[in-house]
Amino acid sequence: MRAAFLAANPRCHECGAHATHVDHTIPVSSRPDLLMDVDNWRPHCATCSARQGARIANSRRNSGNSKRPSARPDPYSPDVL
Ligand SMILES: [Zn+2]
Repeated sequence: MRAAFLAANPRCHECGAHATHVDHTIPVSSRPDLLMDVDNWRPHCATCSARQGARIANSRRNSGNSKRPSARPDPYSPDVL
């Protein structure tokens, strides 16, 4: 099914390069029911697939941080500058 998807969508969704990876728009870690939902699939080249993986990891890390109360002021906040 994955190979058929890449055959039907041979170009990377991000940059138009030859697609070799299939990624999920909504991570299946949060929506396992979308694992086989083709509407949630995007064709990606290796580069964009790796970038998307990093972005998902970052957003997970950021959302984890936002739940933690900040004890000290953010040094990059505009108020400090
Ligand atoms: Zn790409």
